[in-house]
Amino acid sequence: KELVDKYFEKTAKSKRLFERASKVLPAGVTYSIRWFKPYPIFIEKAEGVRVWDVDGNSYVDFWMGHGTHILGHKPEFVIEAVKEVLNKGTHLGYENPYAVEYAELLTKVVPGVEMIRFTNSGTEANMYALRLARAYTKRKYVVKIEGGWHGGYDALHKAVTYPFTEPESAGLPEEYLAYTIAVPFNDVEALEKTLKSYSVAAIVIEPVLGAGGSIEPVNNYLKEVRRLAYEHNSLLIFDEVITGFRLAPGGAQEYFGVKADLVVFGKIVGGGFAGAGAFGGRAEVMELIDHMKYPSPAKRSFHGGTFVGNPVNMVTGKAMVEYLVKHRDLYEKAERIWSNFRRDVTKLCEETNIQCWTTGVATMIGIHFTTSKPKNVREVYELRWSKSIEQVLHLYMRTRGILYMKENLVHLLPSLIHTEEEAKLFKETLAEFLTTL
Ligand code: PLP
Repeated sequence: KELVDKYFEKTAKSKRLFERASKVLPAGVTYSIRWFKPYPIFIEKAEGVRVWDVDGNSYVDFWMGHGTHILGHKPEFVIEAVKEVLNKGTHLGYENPYAVEYAELLTKVVPGVEMIRFTNSGTEANMYALRLARAYTKRKYVVKIEGGWHGGYDALHKAVTYPFTEPESAGLPEEYLAYTIAVPFNDVEALEKTLKSYSVAAIVIEPVLGAGGSIEPVNNYLKEVRRLAYEHNSLLIFDEVITGFRLAPGGAQEYFGVKADLVVFGKIVGGGFAGAGAFGGRAEVMELIDHMKYPSPAKRSFHGGTFVGNPVNMVTGKAMVEYLVKHRDLYEKAERIWSNFRRDVTKLCEETNIQCWTTGVATMIGIHFTTSKPKNVREVYELRWSKSIEQVLHLYMRTRGILYMKENLVHLLPSLIHTEEEAKLFKETLAEFLTTL
């Protein structure tokens, strides 16, 4: 009650906005995952590692635009790049040099990407990548991971919410999901069994589970997945919408030394600008999109869209990736800060005698109030010892100037410009909370 009272006191304008929003936006929000109790905070501006709400409160942001802002909010060089390109147009609708330059850069930076196409979102990139894999293999089945999130595209919108038994949405006919099979993360046996039983076009996998709680692969899991995909002639699709450019400039492929056949991007690929996504891979596979080589629609895999390859995204994405390639030291620094953070939080849990565990790699961090360390999303929920601690912690953090998503899962995505200071702030506030508990 004390926390809620404090929240009401600090966020009166957000409350009023939420009341207005509730009349015109379902649930009063633009995206359901941005909703939290008793009402969401409405943010009006951001800079660096901070955001400011409509009541003038400032927060250290650990959500960073759903993990988009790898160099913090609105880096100066990105803003400059946009200003320059806006003088030339917002959306040209023709082929443009910016897309060619960016595609060339990406094929140099991302392992195994010989050709690439741009999309408007991570969801779309997954949709087209899966269609392409099905076209290439001439197979229908797709294997995904329980709790894996690839956006709202029908064929991948399955087994996201624990216990993975209910449909993920109304209006999604079962038939659309008849060829989608979900297996637990870090479970080689389950994957092998599935690949033996079905003719699988693609395994779609986040190399580190993001929205599922920042769960890292263990015991060479990704290498085993790669081996099994080869063995069964299925394509391996890495959904790098979160891990891409985050774990390393070359993403999870570079970080873990495992190559996928197709890679899917979103978020950071647009350099912080909205409507960004891409998918790419081996030329031999990507060429199936080529309508000149395959004039018959039935033979090629369609991809397109009004805004794809728009100059704003191409220029901001390119500026971002160029910067990241030049500043690899930032990754090393972040690796150190956040692995120390994970170690310190684990120690804190031991010292306060509260069962909690950290997961993730680099700047993907999960904190789980479970009886042991979870290695897949099923365990994240089955091993929980409290129904509400995550929500109480979320409210506690909000009242102390720390913001992240989601309310029921501690899932942090700090940028490469978050420092020891922000890590310390989170740790100390968490220590206060655990001690109070
Ligand atoms: N794939 C992953 C791993 C994601 O985390 C997300 C979004 O959070 C998506 C796909 C969907 O991307 P978008 O929201 O841009 O459609």
